[in-house]
Amino acid sequence: MLDEVYQELILDHYKRPRCQGVLINPDKKIDLHNPLCGDQISLMVKFSGEEISQIAFTGHGCSISQATASIMSELLTGKTKADARRLSGLFRRMIKSEESGNALDDLGDALALEGVKRHSARIKCALLAWDCVDRALAEDASSGSMRDELP
Ligand code: ZN
Repeated sequence: MLDEVYQELILDHYKRPRCQGVLINPDKKIDLHNPLCGDQISLMVKFSGEEISQIAFTGHGCSISQATASIMSELLTGKTKADARRLSGLFRRMIKSEESGNALDDLGDALALEGVKRHSARIKCALLAWDCVDRALAEDASSGSMRDELP
């Protein structure tokens, strides 16, 4: 029963993606693809200080990859960078079966993707959007430290 609800949630995000579109002048734009499945995601992020003020994505591919991008973008909008890193780590531990139960509550709708851990071929599909946001955060952090080093 639970699986059925989750499946509907995933299909709903796939058919009516949240946060889909293009941001004008994003602070970071990351394009990644998953050659194993043909998934492609272009993620755009705007920061406001330590907060992720806006996320949008465009892309194509399987329902898991596109629904994850939609769920993740909705989840991370308005979160701090530190929170986004924590949630990304949590999602990865869920997909690798390293964490389960109440520890995952903060993932919200992304919990619907827990079943992916039983389908190893789809794990890269579910991680593609999170790889984009991790890279955006890493690039942001390194450009920040470069600024700090300027006289
Ligand atoms: Zn895929």
